[in-house]
Amino acid sequence: MMDAAPIALAQPAPRHSLTARVVWGVRTVTIGGDAPVRVQSMTNTNTEDATATAIQVKELAQAGSELVRLTVNTPAAAAAVPHIREQLERMGVDVPLVGDFHYNGHTLLHDYPDCAQALSKYRINPGNVGRGSKKATQFAQMIETALRWDKPVRIGVNWGSLDQELLAQQMDANSRRAAPWDARQVMYEALVTSAVQSAADAVRLGMAPEQIVLSCKVSGVQDLVAVYRALAARCRHPLHLGLTEAGMGVRGITASSAALALLLQEGIGDTIRVSLTPQPGESRAQEVRVAAELLQALGLRAFAPSVSACPGCGRTSSSAFQTLAQRIDEHLRARMSEWRTLYPGVERLKVAVMGCIVNGPGESKHADIGISLPGNGESPAAPVFIDGEKTTTLRGEHIAEEFQRIVEDYVAQRCGRKE
Ligand code: SF4
Repeated sequence: MMDAAPIALAQPAPRHSLTARVVWGVRTVTIGGDAPVRVQSMTNTNTEDATATAIQVKELAQAGSELVRLTVNTPAAAAAVPHIREQLERMGVDVPLVGDFHYNGHTLLHDYPDCAQALSKYRINPGNVGRGSKKATQFAQMIETALRWDKPVRIGVNWGSLDQELLAQQMDANSRRAAPWDARQVMYEALVTSAVQSAADAVRLGMAPEQIVLSCKVSGVQDLVAVYRALAARCRHPLHLGLTEAGMGVRGITASSAALALLLQEGIGDTIRVSLTPQPGESRAQEVRVAAELLQALGLRAFAPSVSACPGCGRTSSSAFQTLAQRIDEHLRARMSEWRTLYPGVERLKVAVMGCIVNGPGESKHADIGISLPGNGESPAAPVFIDGEKTTTLRGEHIAEEFQRIVEDYVAQRCGRKE
């Protein structure tokens, strides 16, 4: 029999963007080029409340957000930004802050130089920067401020606030075409043109191309894919990816993950935000966790050890394995703040918690460390596999505690500092 050709390995395509540098103090976060795809987030506190905002920024940063954006919409909010920065310094949080400006950004950045300085990057929405003849002047004022303080910018277009004059021009041009485009294609063109033209304007004003991050956010998965493919084809600016208004809970997570995964797999996207509407009582940091899990699932980054667990079925008589999987997952996450410095590489650890003998031993062998719990009718024994070999079998009431200890020992042994 002829040997079949090997099945090609699947992996994200390489990215070709320039590299932006976002600096705060001694901390530099690079975006684009060979830099890892960055996770960012946005606060939902009132920026005028410096303490509440600083606390939320800290929460987001601790969850893994590498940049945190906050709205700067009023003079009081602009005045609060340096105080937020100071409070973060006191808490030992050096995450760069990004100011989100609409309508009055040119005035606020001019009138509040301490705010302009305390921010590490400015987000400019070309659709909200001013109308008519004021638009170019006010856009230029924001770019000049960025140049004065040596800050990168994100030119962030959003279909909810698309430049209406530009859209009208695109629609006029379309009506003159022999075969007019679909209305959605006209909108895509307007979004991409707005971003690319604004970036070209910023370059003419003196900004280095690599210091301009672009985004074109829409709320439909297929729309986002179409728009970003075009954007990536027309420029080399680092790209900020995000599905805007993704929604709540499972729907928001699914839509964001689908859209971002499709693009990241094509090598499109240098920094991501998952725009989730928090469910009542839910932490804002959920959007950071989803973004990190998405990058880890795609094999682009590793943030914390991953726990594979089977979904369970009629072969499992109790929720013991679900409880154990959750417990192990929580334990690993809780230990990460200490392990990150103590055990470099621990974030790539793979742990399996399986419900029965059908896939349990096999899946456990594929993990670094795994346990196969007894299913219905199986003898009450849980074999443990380390590096593909069965090493012990746990029994009795304390399987969870014992397995947790085995995982701890394994981490210390495998990832411990080499002297
Ligand atoms: S491993 Fe066993 S318990 Fe888990 S889903 Fe498969 S058959 Fe069901």
